[in-house]
Amino acid sequence: MQAYIDSADVGHFIDGKRVSGSGERSQPVFNPATGARARKLLLGEAADVDAAVTSANAAFPAWRDTPPIRRARVMLRFLELMNKHRDELAAIITAEHGKVFSDAQGEVSRGIDVIEFACGIPQLLKGDYTEQVSTGIDNWTMRQPLGVVAGITPFNFPCMVPCWMFPVAIAAGNAFVLKPSERDPSASLFMAELLKEAGLPDGIFNVVQGDKTVVDALLVHPDVKAVSFVGSTPIANYIYETGAKHGKRVQALGGAKNHMVIMPDADLDKAVDALIGAAYGSAGERCMAISVALLVGDVADRIMPRLAERARALVVKNGMEADAEMGPIVTRQALERIEGYIDLGVKEGATLVVDGRGLKVPGHEDGFFTGGTLFDNVTPEMRIYKEEIFGPVLACVRVRDFTQAVDLINAHEFGNGVACFTSDGHVAREFGRRIEVGMVGINVPIPVPMAWHGFGGWKRSLFGDTHAYGEEGVRFYTKQKSIMQRWSESIEKGAEFAMPTAK
Ligand code: NAD
Repeated sequence: MQAYIDSADVGHFIDGKRVSGSGERSQPVFNPATGARARKLLLGEAADVDAAVTSANAAFPAWRDTPPIRRARVMLRFLELMNKHRDELAAIITAEHGKVFSDAQGEVSRGIDVIEFACGIPQLLKGDYTEQVSTGIDNWTMRQPLGVVAGITPFNFPCMVPCWMFPVAIAAGNAFVLKPSERDPSASLFMAELLKEAGLPDGIFNVVQGDKTVVDALLVHPDVKAVSFVGSTPIANYIYETGAKHGKRVQALGGAKNHMVIMPDADLDKAVDALIGAAYGSAGERCMAISVALLVGDVADRIMPRLAERARALVVKNGMEADAEMGPIVTRQALERIEGYIDLGVKEGATLVVDGRGLKVPGHEDGFFTGGTLFDNVTPEMRIYKEEIFGPVLACVRVRDFTQAVDLINAHEFGNGVACFTSDGHVAREFGRRIEVGMVGINVPIPVPMAWHGFGGWKRSLFGDTHAYGEEGVRFYTKQKSIMQRWSESIEKGAEFAMPTAK
């Protein structure tokens, strides 16, 4: 599949074929490690969305009627192919996103987990049944697919986040249209070809590349029944409102500012390792990255020198090099935004302990690199505390006690992930119960739920009612039907005008 890395143009995948689409517009896709334009992305237009939705709509009835076990077998073949091509896919991700290769392999693995989950769709679609809800009457519920559903995904997990959506949606009997991020669009085309090779009928999985134009066309298209979105909070809010206004079911996962509380009784060696990995892994471009450390009591004085030493020693280089711990930032604009936040933190009066700005990687002078940055004495009024920076910048806040830590987290607008490091079981239990955040780690820095548990934050980190993947995902991509059936002579009594009750 080297062709994806070398090919000049990245287009769409509609009705089982790679196509260039109807648009004239394009934009470059960069290799962030070198700063070079690697290929050209063809931006879709409303006509391309319409072509994809039309193809999906035409393919849907036969796929819906395919027995779930046969749909699961297509997923099983796709699973085998994903395992076989895991490293090629990881290399594509590193080339366009910049994350280190081992991290990209981990991303693909977490995507594969959801495909494995989706292979169990016959079991997941089983309904409920009650014999004899009334004399001679049985009642059962079943779940049926919605039709054409769409996914709009962010740059930071070009394989895993689409895999949160389409394997479950397709296994449940829907047809899917994916709009990937414009920054790293190739992984989705690679997966589209593997799905075809696995035997998925044409039209059941489509990819339309593009920007707001494509998103807006999906949001208003009358044949799109549901939209899953993952990305930043302002856009998630927009997707939720606009999708709902056009009668669609919407789940829209937004941004984050994840805190890690370190209690004085925590194992500090483990806490330092966890914090460094969670703050700087993938250059902080993870929605579950830890961007705030709440250092309780005397922890700050004990931990800051160790954090500083580790942040300074981070190995930042091209993610394809085996010893790289952190790769480049995805685009030059993102790099400028992140370094702008560091300037702001200094102006706001935080203590800049380690400054990652202006890092040059030898041999990659035009790459979009910044080093790990560490701030101490950050306060809740500062913008670097309140806003999502989405880069390798760790803000340390000194807090008095556990209660103050919990209050700060609960007052924050985001509620995606959170962690508490402690050796006290009671503190851990209270933390889990009282914290207003969707995904909680106790001595676990990045508590991304496994494929059968479902992923989602609280507050302005998620708009909608259901989380991604797991049984919540199955519910999102299906609608419940209740059937009540009578085969008896009891109809003989004639029409009944009172509310039916059990007889
Ligand atoms: P983004 O919001 O800029 O883009 C996400 C998607 O929305 C892309 O496909 C993009 O093309 C589209 N988009 C962008 N602007 C749009 C507009 N004005 N109208 C319509 N569509 C638009 O996000 P990003 O920079 O690609 O990704 C990073 C963000 O995603 C961070 O905020 C991160 O926290 C968040 N994220 C959240 C989760 C989660 O599970 N909660 C997971 C991953 C990433």
